[in-house]
Formats: sequence, structure tokens, C-alpha cells
Amino acid sequence: MVSQSKRDVLVIGAGPGGWVLAILLAKKGYKVAIFDRQGSPSSHPRGEIIQPNGLKVLDEIDILQRLQQELVYRWDKVHFRNMGGDPLCTIRYQNLPPPFNFALVVLPEVIQKLLKERAENFSVIDIYWRATFKSLLWENGRVIGVQVETTGKMLQEFHAPLVVGGDGVYSSVRKGLGIPCHIHPYENGYMTAIMDMPRDFKEELHFYVGKGVYVAMMPVSQYRFYIMYLMPKNRVTEIKKEGVDRFKERIVSLNPDVGDLLSRPLSALSSWSDFVFVPAFRVRCKSWVADGCALMGDAAHAMNPHVAQGRNSAMQDASVLSGVIEDCFRRGDFSRSALLDYEKIRRPTVEALQRTAHELTWLWESRFTPLIWARERIFRSIDKDLYLHDKILHTASGIKSQPYHLYDKWRALHLWPV
Ligand SMILES: Cc1cc2nc3c(=O)[nH]c(=O)nc-3n(C[C@H](O)[C@H](O)[C@H](O)COP(=O)(O)OP(=O)(O)OC[C@H]3O[C@@H](n4cnc5c(N)ncnc54)[C@H](O)[C@@H]3O)c2cc1C
Repeated sequence: MVSQSKRDVLVIGAGPGGWVLAILLAKKGYKVAIFDRQGSPSSHPRGEIIQPNGLKVLDEIDILQRLQQELVYRWDKVHFRNMGGDPLCTIRYQNLPPPFNFALVVLPEVIQKLLKERAENFSVIDIYWRATFKSLLWENGRVIGVQVETTGKMLQEFHAPLVVGGDGVYSSVRKGLGIPCHIHPYENGYMTAIMDMPRDFKEELHFYVGKGVYVAMMPVSQYRFYIMYLMPKNRVTEIKKEGVDRFKERIVSLNPDVGDLLSRPLSALSSWSDFVFVPAFRVRCKSWVADGCALMGDAAHAMNPHVAQGRNSAMQDASVLSGVIEDCFRRGDFSRSALLDYEKIRRPTVEALQRTAHELTWLWESRFTPLIWARERIFRSIDKDLYLHDKILHTASGIKSQPYHLYDKWRALHLWPV
């Protein structure tokens, strides 16, 4: 067992939240160590939407401009259509106040690379790859450090006044704290793939909704294109048995116009190894903080990707938490009650997003005809009614969480006079 020198903050997990927190703390001169069990930044074959709240955080850590020069796709509108191709609703980001009145679609590897490079610029940040968190170190009921397994199965101890767990849905830090938590696995996950940009593809980003079908399609750069296809996780083996060509046919047949555009780039995806199935979860914990320790991102509150807010929320957590940590250092107090300010600021917004994402699973993924009828009415109302449109826009963009009241739901269904 090797014991290491003291840091100010130890961060478990080099996910979006972990990087942003380390960079923000380093900007204030704190010594930070990040540990990740992988050998390099994680990359998934998917496009992720950076919403306005995420753009704001990336601006805070001075990488937004650089990111926009990379292979990313900027868009101002999202189009929802039914399977036949009929327009249902367009969400217009230009309705938000500038400068963050747009969104970006990025490949996780592009943004993770930039975050890593930015962190490497700070001599006060130490990054440990292939370093797996094993357990928390305790003294008089408070966390004082971590035990980490590094390459060669060597156990090392690191000490700091604060440990932050940004280690994802199945967080080991959360388990170590013994915080009661409920992990809800959604029935449906997504088959995802990245392919060449279809020639003549016009719209920026569009979502297709049908009977038990939900498909997102979006450019992730000038050259690459992302597709995300909703699929029950208990049918993945059966669908794979039918063969990859049958699955590609399903995509092409969703809508004749788009199907034609997609068939060429899809033909280059020749085996199941070109597709990745990812499950979706919601995590709800009794608490996000303890004496000497805090949780952030998916470890504290994973949510269904329907609101495209998991990464953005993790980064926003980091931004708020960095301010609270600064106060903790000023006061020399890292107790649960000192850290609770972070949870009090973030929990209401995050819970509103989790609720919205959860409600959307039964509305968007439904096979039930009356619900599909209601969904079409709701989409068309949002398209026409500025009040409803801006309310969903503000919530999804992470700018201002505005929960839907019964009145809004009736208004969306045209059951309430406007
Ligand atoms: C299909 C799909 C589409 C999505 N689209 C979007 C989107 O458009 N926009 C958006 O904002 N979000 C999206 N998300 C959600 C987003 O990807 C996650 O919410 C986000 O990555 C969470 O970040 P995190 O830092 O909390 O955790 P993670 O990204 O999960 O990172 C956790 C890190 O901790 C490390 N780790 C875990 N255990 C240990 C351990 N014991 N020791 C050391 N290291 C450990 C892991 O290796 C990993 O690097 C999507 C998710 C899915 C599934």
C-alpha cells in the first residue's frame, strides 16, 4: 500500500462533470486529482446535444470557441415529425436570449478530448488513468480520502478534505457512502450508429415519432451523421438474430423520403459491430452530499436521454459545486451541511428534468392509440402556442426549469380555452 501526498479535491470519474469540476477548481488554484478506471477518455458512437446550459459552462472553462471550431454541428431548430413525414412541431432555439440561443451536436470523443487537453494545461491537476476507485477512507464518521487500485493491482491511498464521485449510474462512491438510492432501468434503450453524412440531407435535426417507434437523426459534423433508434432491451437479441440488413430495412422504411437519403450511408454499416445498444436509467438518491464527500452527474441523478440533459446537467453540477467548494475552503468546513448548498441549488432543476424525461417516455414511446392521438395534439399545440413552446424550450435547454401544471397539460390538449 502506497500513501500519496495531499490534494485539495479528489474526483472519481473523468466524465463531463469530473473534467469541468477539476478545471474550474484548478482555475482557482486548487490541487485536484482525477481518477478513471479506463485507459483514456470514454467515447461512445453517438451524438450528444450540448444544450444552452452546457454551452454556458463550456464558455466558463474557455473551450466553447475551440469546440465550435472542431467537428461539431450547430443548430437552431429541432423538428418533430410523425412516421409518414408530416411535421408535428418545431422547437426554435432562437427564442432564447443570446448568446446561448443555439445548441451543438458533438461526438463525445470530440468534447472529451478538448476537456482533457484543457485539464492538462494546469499543473495543479493530476490525472490517473487505469485507476479504479476501491473504497472511501474514513475518520470519525467523515470521508478523508480514497483507496484506488492502479495498474499492476497496486493499492494507493490519497487524502483530501473533499472527495467527489462523478463515477456514473452504478457509482461505487455512492455505494461507499451507503446513500439509499433507486436505479430505474427503462424498458427501452437505443441502438445507435454513426455513419457518413447522407447527401442532400436538409434539416438540421429531426426526431420521428410513431407507434412504439422513436428515432433521432442528426449530423454530428459536416461529414458524419448519427442515428438513434428506440428499442426494447429485451428484444435486442431477437432483432440481432434477424440480421443487420433487416434492421437497416426497418430504418429505411420509416419514411420514404429520408429512407432514400439514408440507404447509401447505411449500406456501409455492414455488421452489428457498427451499431451499439445503450440502455437508459434514472437514478434518484436520498442525498447527494455527506461529510467530506459529494456526488454529481449520473452518480447523483441519471435521467432518460429524452431531454438530452445528462451531460449538460453533470457540467452544470460541476459549475455550482465548484463555487460551494470555494466557500468550504474559505470557512474550513467540508461537512454535509456546508455542502448542502450545492444540492439545494441543483436538486429542484434536476428533478424537474428527470420528471419531464420520464413523462416523455410514456408519451413518445407509446403504442397506445389514444395516447398517440393525445401526443399529436400536444405537439401541434406546442408548435402554435408560444407560451407552451417557450416553456418546453426553457426546460430542455436547461436555462430555467418550468414544471408543467395541469393547466398546461389541458391547454396542450386543447381542453382549456386560451
Ligand atoms: C443514448 C444516449 C444519448 C444521450 N444523449 C445525451 C445528450 O444528447 N445530451 C446530454 O447532455 N446527455 C446525453 N446523454 C447522457 C450523458 O451521456 C450522461 O448523462 C453523461 O455522460 C453523464 O456524465 P457523468 O460525468 O455523470 O458520468 P459518465 O459519463 O458515466 O462518466 C463516469 C466516469 O467514471 C468512471 N468510473 C466509473 N466507475 C469508476 C471507478 N470505480 N473508478 C474510477 N473511475 C470510474 C467511468 O470510466 C467514466 O469515465 C445520453 C445518454 C445516452 C445513453
